[in-house]
Amino acid sequence: MKNKNEKGTIKKVLSLVHKLVPGYLTLLIIIRVLAASFPFVGIIFSSIILDQLVARESFEVIMKNALIMIAIGSSLVLIRWGLEAANWVKKFELSHKISQMICDKTFDIDYDVLEKHETLDMIKKAKDGTNSSGGMRQFCDNLASLLEKIIRIVYSVGILVYLFIPNPNASGEGIALILNKWYSLFIMAAVMILHLVISFFVNKKSAALQMKFFERNVSYNRYFSYWFNLVFDYSIGKYIRLYKMQKVVLSRVQQTNDTLEEEFTSYLNDNLKITLIPVLTEFVLQLTCYAYVGLKAVCNLISVGSSLKYVTAYKILVESITGISDTFVQLNVESKYLSFFYDYMQIENKRYEGTIPTEKRDDNVFEIEFRDVSFKYANSETWALRHVNQKITLGTKNAVVGKNGAGKTTFIKLLCRLYEPTEGQILLNGVDIRYYDYKDYAKLFAIVFQDFNLFSFPLGENVAAGAEYDKKRVLECIDKAGFTDRLNRLEKGLETNLYQYSDENGVEISGGEAQKLAIARALYKDAPFVILDEPTSALDPVAEFEIYQNFDNMVKDKTSIYISHRMSSCRFCDNIIVFDEGKVVEQGSHEKLMETGGLYSELWNAQAQYYA
Ligand code: ADP
Repeated sequence: MKNKNEKGTIKKVLSLVHKLVPGYLTLLIIIRVLAASFPFVGIIFSSIILDQLVARESFEVIMKNALIMIAIGSSLVLIRWGLEAANWVKKFELSHKISQMICDKTFDIDYDVLEKHETLDMIKKAKDGTNSSGGMRQFCDNLASLLEKIIRIVYSVGILVYLFIPNPNASGEGIALILNKWYSLFIMAAVMILHLVISFFVNKKSAALQMKFFERNVSYNRYFSYWFNLVFDYSIGKYIRLYKMQKVVLSRVQQTNDTLEEEFTSYLNDNLKITLIPVLTEFVLQLTCYAYVGLKAVCNLISVGSSLKYVTAYKILVESITGISDTFVQLNVESKYLSFFYDYMQIENKRYEGTIPTEKRDDNVFEIEFRDVSFKYANSETWALRHVNQKITLGTKNAVVGKNGAGKTTFIKLLCRLYEPTEGQILLNGVDIRYYDYKDYAKLFAIVFQDFNLFSFPLGENVAAGAEYDKKRVLECIDKAGFTDRLNRLEKGLETNLYQYSDENGVEISGGEAQKLAIARALYKDAPFVILDEPTSALDPVAEFEIYQNFDNMVKDKTSIYISHRMSSCRFCDNIIVFDEGKVVEQGSHEKLMETGGLYSELWNAQAQYYA
């Protein structure tokens, strides 16, 4: 059954391509019209020249025709070559813009949808569908090639009509008599129709096999890319070497490769079996054509020059008609591939797209409230958060503590709207956060997650999270995060590229240094909420101490939330929220919680024992 995005693909693709790269389609059409005309210049002129040679015409007359043929032919070739060169640039532009659309969509998609297996498969299909397996360029090329084939059919029919017009001067009997009748064209037509019908059905079947092969292997292809890329990722390379994981990784590459190979062999076998039939019918068709035209020439019904012209025109006619049926099947397949692109572009965000702007308050008056919030991850049956009621008041320094898996990070992710509560509400200044404009809301938070990611960009751009930045402020934030000494040792300063992925002179920095830069990035954002999830886990004790010393200066009057396993670092927080199994089990100041003697004091004492 047709997917709704396969319908009307031609219109959708043409209007999108025209919008993205104006002029591309026009150039394609002109190129194809020229390509269609080119062979006929040769056919017509060489048949004239051949007949003139047979009739022993003068050298000048023959040369004149030869020169005209060369002039027209070479002009067509040169113009086409120039246009194709111009179109190459546009082809790249088109691919680039389509990839850009997929990237933009991926950035915009709900985070919880993005991490799903089905979405990852859809992205792979959309990317493959618009690049390797057909794609917009191929689709447009095929549409233009339809036009080329139609023009070729018109030209060849125009020539072939004369083959079937009886020669009034012919005198003959037997086979010559039959061949000189107009209805002898049915011999040729019958074989041609047989070949075309067979080709059409075989192509259709072959395309269905190809599509089935593609659909079945989307996930395997994705797994293969994952395992294969691990081999070349040098940052993971250290673990692979140290843990001697080469065998494990290679066996995964091998396994997925074997599966793909098996699938491919089976597809190829099935495909080969059916595609043999049209190869045979084409052979029969050619034999019939040579016999028909040859016999007509032998019986003097047509000239030698004409026989060459007719054989070639007939060959082009058959190729063009077969080509049209191929192209239709191909366009059908490509519509399916492209429908994956449109499917992906049409994924709707379930996230409520609020419109209220977050108030731009100089006084940063923002209060957050979790009201009976519970949350389950989509792929999980257990509650990651359960009945959380929590207020975070303006300008307070909050610590969130608890054992691993207690729900601390989930609490932060919900606060930042990476996920939405399964039950309950989160309010900002009394309004459900879903009602705020998402991009506006996201501006309120500067976060350093445990898996902070820096990019293989220049250092300054990493801190500013953008290509243009206020150098003075970047340096201030770097200083507060304790990275200045290291920066001073870098020859290119803020221009230094991090890592070698995108620059041969990129520098490698330690985990602790990277964490400092991630903190500097959060400070540069200058958002009212600063959230640090285990921000000092990779820092040495001195650097950690400096960060704590500097903490007041860093966050100033902002509201901060601080997740840490280092209990001593919570002491200077106004409010400590203790999570256990997804619930807030106690909260208050360090002193109060120590007095209560609950989970917090248990964790504190356990740690004090080890760090004493
Ligand atoms: P903490 O930060 O306190 O260590 P988390 O908030 O990360 O804990 O995790 C809370 C629970 O949710 C854990 O049981 C964890 O396994 C589960 N969890 C975390 N992330 C996901 C996810 N993306 N999908 C499914 N379960 C998750």
